[in-house]
Amino acid sequence: MFFLLRDPISKLPGIGPVLAQKLANLDIFSVEDLIRHYPRRWEDWSQISPLIQAQAGERLTTQAELLTLNQFRSPRSRLHITSGIVQDESGSLRVTWFNQPYIARHLVKNQPYYVSGEVRSFRGHLTIINPTLEPITAAPVHAGRIIPVYPTTAGVSTKIIRRAIKNLIPTIRTLPDYLPAPLRAQHHLIGHAQAVEHIHFPASMKHLQSARHRLGFEELLMVHLGLMLVKSAQAEDRGQPILTPTNFQAQFIKHLDFTLTSGQARAIKDIVEDLARPHPTNRLLLGDVGSGKTVVAAAAISAAAGAGFQTALMAPTEVLANQHYRSIAPLMDALGVSTTLLTGATKLADPQDIASGKIDLVIGTHALIQKDVSFKNLNLVIIDEQHRFGVRQRTRLKNKSHVSPHFLSLSATPIPRTLFLTLFSDLDVSILGELPQGRQPITTLIATDANQDTITNLINTEAQSGHKIFVVTPLIDEDSRATRSSIASEERHLTQLFPDLKIGTLHGRMSADEKMAAMQDIQTDQLDVLLATSVIEVGIDIKQATIIWIKNAERFGLAQLHQLRGRVGRSDLPSYCIVETSSDDPEATERLTAFTKIKDGDKLAEMDLEARGPGSFFSDQQSGFLKLRVAKLTDQKLIKTTRSAAEHLLATDPQLKLHPELKNQLNLTHITHGE
Ligand code: ADP
Ligand code: MG
Repeated sequence: MFFLLRDPISKLPGIGPVLAQKLANLDIFSVEDLIRHYPRRWEDWSQISPLIQAQAGERLTTQAELLTLNQFRSPRSRLHITSGIVQDESGSLRVTWFNQPYIARHLVKNQPYYVSGEVRSFRGHLTIINPTLEPITAAPVHAGRIIPVYPTTAGVSTKIIRRAIKNLIPTIRTLPDYLPAPLRAQHHLIGHAQAVEHIHFPASMKHLQSARHRLGFEELLMVHLGLMLVKSAQAEDRGQPILTPTNFQAQFIKHLDFTLTSGQARAIKDIVEDLARPHPTNRLLLGDVGSGKTVVAAAAISAAAGAGFQTALMAPTEVLANQHYRSIAPLMDALGVSTTLLTGATKLADPQDIASGKIDLVIGTHALIQKDVSFKNLNLVIIDEQHRFGVRQRTRLKNKSHVSPHFLSLSATPIPRTLFLTLFSDLDVSILGELPQGRQPITTLIATDANQDTITNLINTEAQSGHKIFVVTPLIDEDSRATRSSIASEERHLTQLFPDLKIGTLHGRMSADEKMAAMQDIQTDQLDVLLATSVIEVGIDIKQATIIWIKNAERFGLAQLHQLRGRVGRSDLPSYCIVETSSDDPEATERLTAFTKIKDGDKLAEMDLEARGPGSFFSDQQSGFLKLRVAKLTDQKLIKTTRSAAEHLLATDPQLKLHPELKNQLNLTHITHGE
């Protein structure tokens, strides 16, 4: 049976509405989504051996007949046990399943099977534990071959996915190949359809390798082509130069109560030069947490306002938009630049005043892109924490301008900086390489039973000095099994532990007003401790905050932990980051120990990348920023090869007019920075 790529998965045999709903948790809605749901790893069960070679502790795949099958409950442990004997010409062996009562339903005595499983010695007898049995056919799915292991979700096992994709093989075989034949030949790439088939069901490890090479190549090629086309379109794009009287700029800097770092000064110079050109700027400002990106953005805003243009600054959360408003508005006031705040909850100005140009700077959240917001002469668009936004939101904000506006985005390195630059060397990037002077290193420690008192004392002492403490927990409500910390459980716990301290909460289910009140209270005497979910991860800047205590720290990636840690140490006060875990997984402990030693965000991002793949950077964001399914960002060689392949293609065919399939595919794939 054949299906269209856009067919909903509910059209597939065996996928009813219930399963379809569960698959949605994996972002699988259409046939295409399912086809693109590539395995996480593969297990090689292809080597068929006779039963006589079974050895305790080893994996075995064999072709054997199922002779007997019994089910019973173990009298002592109450385990449900299914047990049988399989036999081939070389001998026979016991097979045992624990707590899989349904297994017997699908098995038939005296029938030959592929049997794959691990052999164990059990009371002196060899047995295959929890094996997979599959009737012998030319194309087995679960045993007797290299089997794919998929990312799963509750109610959707890898077997279900495997079977569903197996049913799509005829459809996969019809997938067109949009890479030009000469390119394929030059880089030894197998066909697209063949690659997709073999990434799911490789005939051999060699096939798997070719499939990954092909698919990784095309992914990176598309990224490069996309970026290059955007760049060349921009070179043609005309915008309005922002020519700022130089003394205006100096005025802004004079009003700051600190000296700019050299990185900040250089970035501001780069940006002001960009803005003066007749082409719209597209610059990314990269800098570690706390490196001071906001003030660079503010300088750009002052440049635009000085030339009489409006600016929109968009931040991903209400709390952050508020903070920017409070820190930037006074700087602008001093220059006679009028600022307003526009979020879902707060509309400080009449929209009319934005439309008429009475207001120079609008700071806000997604609310900025709503229909009823219009500008008179918007010419600078700035997005903070840009990796949190989708392409569409960015474009919609830019479309509020009557011209092609200048665009500046701010981000902490979501992926290692060196890799970022290799991959995106076509972008204009400014980097803030150092932190402002006078910062003290943040002491990071793991909470244990042994240092509990030390931590309690530390918190009390800091609070007495008027310093602030964040406690971060993953959940809002109590976990039913109470295995994880939550706002509810921590509130009780902290109140007991610190009877003298004033403790407030901040989480995603509070209203915008409540959140704002909590943020304000922690900056005054109203609160000592703010107990929050990871909503405080993004951008929050409170100079008096000196301790962040992260519960269930094993649940966060290193880069995310680093972001959280960056919420303290934002002044010359000594600061502390305490990570706590109840997990006894040695890998978690190892990761956290590394985190206590490594301060460099870039290095941590790199370790994340090695350990968890690029997906982890963007996991629950709707970024579409860089969704690589196969290619590895650590594969510098492939990044370079595909870059020159892309350059080569565009050199002779700058608009891809001679390669319509490729162009079409490119339009279908989200291309990211810029649009
Ligand atoms: P991020 O890069 O994480 O967005 P922010 O822009 O929030 O960092 O800046 C962090 C803190 O450092 C802010 O309180 C800001 O006022 C302060 N800051 C920025 N630049 C400097 C500087 N050159 N010297 C001293 N403090 C600075
Ligand atoms: Mg910031």
